[in-house]
Amino acid sequence: MIMAQRGTARAKAPAPTAVCPFIAAHDTICIPLARSSRSGNRRTGPESPKLQRIGRSLPIMKIHEYQAKEILAKYGVAVPRGEVANTLEEASTIARKLFAEGASGVVVKAQIHAGGRGKGGGVKVAHTREEAELYAQQILGMTLVTHQTGPQGQKVQRLLIEETAAIDRELYLGIVLDRAQGKLVFMASQAGGMEIEEVAAKTPEAIFKEAIDPAIGLGAWQARKLAFALGLKPAQINAAVAFFQSLYKAYIETDASLIEINPFITTKDDKLFALDAKITFDDNALFRHPAIKALRDTAEEDPLEVEASKYALNYIKLDGTIACMVNGAGLAMATMDIIQYAGGSPANFLDVGGGATQEQIEHAFEILLSDSNVKAIFINIFGGILRVDRLATGVVAAAHILKIKVPIVLHLEGTNVEEGRRILKESGLNFEVGATMKEAAELVVAAAASAGA
Ligand code: GDP
Ligand code: MN
Repeated sequence: MIMAQRGTARAKAPAPTAVCPFIAAHDTICIPLARSSRSGNRRTGPESPKLQRIGRSLPIMKIHEYQAKEILAKYGVAVPRGEVANTLEEASTIARKLFAEGASGVVVKAQIHAGGRGKGGGVKVAHTREEAELYAQQILGMTLVTHQTGPQGQKVQRLLIEETAAIDRELYLGIVLDRAQGKLVFMASQAGGMEIEEVAAKTPEAIFKEAIDPAIGLGAWQARKLAFALGLKPAQINAAVAFFQSLYKAYIETDASLIEINPFITTKDDKLFALDAKITFDDNALFRHPAIKALRDTAEEDPLEVEASKYALNYIKLDGTIACMVNGAGLAMATMDIIQYAGGSPANFLDVGGGATQEQIEHAFEILLSDSNVKAIFINIFGGILRVDRLATGVVAAAHILKIKVPIVLHLEGTNVEEGRRILKESGLNFEVGATMKEAAELVVAAAASAGA
């Protein structure tokens, strides 16, 4: 996918080839839209989509392609006929129905929360029902590995069975927030399909952009400009303008954080369709969209992250060996940075929040410890609303209850810090305390190293 990339304060010319460090991605590519002086997540990015999510600090909810298409269809965006199948029987029934209704072929598409499915073998075109059944059998239940799933891949639990389209051209459309400009940007490119990342990296000028004035919305003139830039035929222009405006309306009314249509196709008979669709939503606005909230598919999420979300813990699993428990997202990011600076690697991002309860602290420990990569725990707390003594009580209780064996290093500052240190000392448990954040980071890296990290 394409997204707005904020420049960094120090990097003079952020390379357009960088994997975008600010958001989890689908067909992830990154286009610098404008430079801003705000610094990005310099040290921790660019890396995995998870780190990107942290750097972006924008909570997002993902949905499947079939769900995105259902939403877009309500806004008048043309999508091919099709239905979701959870079983082979359902896949067969849908394929039979589509062929009976006159489809010349059907496409069997893996539904996972990641892009690159086509290249990974998760999208196959069938010309008969039997062939569709064969592909459904191959894809349903397979572990699909794409450049966005990571090497472990993602198990396919659902399929979208859709009528094929007679593709003439594969184009690209996207809407994303450009924070530097404080505006949404509508993007379009002639080079849609499966190589969009490369296009963005090598020829960013091949992506046309229109910044949208929030007071006016996507003007018809802007939509026309993009339609012409895409080289659409005169007969397709009006439909394209309506298509783009419908996409924009859908973005605004659903509180989306990203809409991406790749490919946006033209057909031999001059029709326009969204052949693929990705929408992510701003978590913070989900309270006003219960129907969208209900589309969440926890089977697609990391089990530890699902567990953490039950206790309102802001947790993102990473691949390192040092678990972090921190209050405040900024301090949590700084903690990950300083662990890396000290030569270690964070096992997670965790912000327990300002008002963490003892119960939350216990659950947080449980979650941290269920990650078998963890060799040491770094607790870095600045006691503000969350008083240090209360945190210490929670930590001691959890350490007893959970019989924690991995070494724990703390760095504590703030309200009631003396009382907190006393509680830890008198607990009889083996905690190390760093006088500064740097010292604590060095201690925890050393502890992890001697534990075999
Ligand atoms: P992604 O790889 O995860 O982005 O999945 P897409 O939905 O974009 O599908 C990948 C590619 O499969 C597209 O770029 C198309 O070339 C092809 N494809 C998808 N649907 C159809 C279809 O209905 N007919 C044909 N002929 N090709 C399709
Ligand atoms: Mn796609």
